Amino acid sequence: MGLLYLGTPLAWDDAKQYADHVRTHGITQFLHIWDNLKDRYGDELLWGDEVEYMVVAFDNEDKNAKLSLRQTEILAKLQSIVNDIAADSEDQASVPTFHPEYGRFMLESTPGSPYTGEVRDVLSVEENMRYRTLTANIRRRRGSKVAINLPLFIDDRTPRPFVDPTIPWQRSIYSEDPEARQGAALLDHIYMDAMGFGMGCSCLQLTFQSCNITHARRLYDALVPIAPIMLALTAASPLWRGYIADVDCRWDVVAASVDDRTEEERGLKPLKENRFRIPKSRYGSVSLYISDEWLNRPEYNDIEAPFDEAIFGRLQEHGIDAALAKHISHLFIRDPIVIFSETIHQDDKTSNDHFENIQSTNWQTVRFKPPPVNSPIGWRVEFRSMEVQPTDFENAAFAVFVVLLSRAILNYSLNLYVPISKVDENMARSQRRDAVNTEKFFFRKEVFPPGVPSPLSTPNSSGASSPIDPTGHAIPRPKSKKLGNCFAPAPKPDAGHELGPIDDEYDEYSLNEIFNGKGEAFPGLIQLIYAYLETIDISETERHRIDEYLDLIKRRASGALQTPATWIRNFVRSHPAYKFDSVVSQEINYDLMVAVDEIERGVRQAPEFIPPHHVKCKPNKTNGI
Ligand code: ADP
Ligand code: MG
Ligand code: MG
Ligand code: MG
Ligand code: MG
Ligand code: MG
Repeated sequence: MGLLYLGTPLAWDDAKQYADHVRTHGITQFLHIWDNLKDRYGDELLWGDEVEYMVVAFDNEDKNAKLSLRQTEILAKLQSIVNDIAADSEDQASVPTFHPEYGRFMLESTPGSPYTGEVRDVLSVEENMRYRTLTANIRRRRGSKVAINLPLFIDDRTPRPFVDPTIPWQRSIYSEDPEARQGAALLDHIYMDAMGFGMGCSCLQLTFQSCNITHARRLYDALVPIAPIMLALTAASPLWRGYIADVDCRWDVVAASVDDRTEEERGLKPLKENRFRIPKSRYGSVSLYISDEWLNRPEYNDIEAPFDEAIFGRLQEHGIDAALAKHISHLFIRDPIVIFSETIHQDDKTSNDHFENIQSTNWQTVRFKPPPVNSPIGWRVEFRSMEVQPTDFENAAFAVFVVLLSRAILNYSLNLYVPISKVDENMARSQRRDAVNTEKFFFRKEVFPPGVPSPLSTPNSSGASSPIDPTGHAIPRPKSKKLGNCFAPAPKPDAGHELGPIDDEYDEYSLNEIFNGKGEAFPGLIQLIYAYLETIDISETERHRIDEYLDLIKRRASGALQTPATWIRNFVRSHPAYKFDSVVSQEINYDLMVAVDEIERGVRQAPEFIPPHHVKCKPNKTNGI
């Protein structure tokens, strides 16, 4: 989650005085990066995943599975295992790294160094993840003051109205105890009142390095409408605090759990102490598209997105275009959450800490990442909406799918814009129970810009017309050895071309249609990836592996395979000890953790959600933790 380094954090009352200092210097640092790196061009595709894990301790005698708070100890143990792997490995780059995460029961892992666009590198993701699965990852947490009410899944024998018996209704230890009684805890809801409930959830994130800043902005925008549909497809969080919820995903819980907006900012009181009314939590969906290319019509930014006008002015005066200046000055309406006394005063030419302080505590579905100063790293985009899956096979499949989709988007100049308000509506729908089978999503009708032919309607699937030999046959273009990164943008339409009303550009579709095709106009995201793959030189074995991954995505989208959320629900509801009262008992929880662990290790099949034979045993099973 960023900002987990060591130092002496200032108490909020002290930190508050430095909020403007951090923002002002943060912008100076950004402008320094801009001046030095805005014209940086030609970076190759480098990318990497982040997988967050929860550490679960099994008590096999008492049949109990609980979160383990031994993060420090476990990180030390993992480090020694990683050192062993490194000693045995010829390829040092493949050795994963582990970092502490928000909760003491959480870890995050990333590849030791980023992957490239080489196909064999892309296909090493699963193996690399397998090294990291030394720990079982699953969602359950325990836990100051936020109020999260998650609708309860009402089963046949759930007492109505449901009054959570685990809330300390009589307690008056914390100032918020009376609030829980006075209406903060809603009937028929699961009530949670601490940040740990949300930030304790695990996600799967991917970061891509772009050819240059223009590509990064183009890709950022294209991934904004992709974020909710990938959330729906990876849904994996149906159980909360010992109850079955009526939602499948973590997103809104995390958003509520780190919502630090004051009553003024939330619009409950007139503005007096604060400067802005802020419609969303700092953990939230994207509110602004940022590309400065013609495909991004200003009308798509159709929701309220407050921004700091002084910062906006400062950025514009410096020559930064309105779209990017809006984005940065929108992020910078937030206060820093943590300020370390050691790093208040920085050299703005060599540090980006103040910029990152605000940037990395804006936890949105997609993040535009400027290069750090004095580093070989380029402009990047991070895709952040997906939920962690129980198995490496699935996590690898989703990582590979998104990296290939990002290439198809850039190669075919896909136009995926829908108004941001519709993306937000999709975010709400994506988290509903069984969204894959029951919801429709706003999606663009025609994804090929004018002048860009569908790769599927032309004989040469690369999308460009091929040279013709004397007998009239197309001469195949040479295939590329690796995934590309620098692509031509969509050609500008002719002067006479008229853009219609934006509301005519989209419609509502099922995930099956979006992924597997919706008639002539749209062949489906999967077919576009296949078309892109035709332009890459891939061996039969590699192609087979990719097919397995894409097949998982296809079948998730069609509903043929269950999401982890559905599978977990069904597991609980068919457990002999389940009383159809929405309660996940200690015993059911334990059996669920055991089942997930067994599926992950390949000793138990779950053909409803993982195609058989796809979960291989780990190379390096350790039980010592
Ligand atoms: P954060 O938590 O701020 O998102 P992390 O450092 O935890 O960032 O993870 C960054 C991700 O970016 C990792 O998956 C890493 O492999 C990947 N990565 C590192 N360098 C590059 C690069 N030059 N281009 C793209 N991705 C990179
Ligand atoms: Mg993380
Ligand atoms: Mg990280
Ligand atoms: Mg980080
Ligand atoms: Mg990240
Ligand atoms: Mg796993």
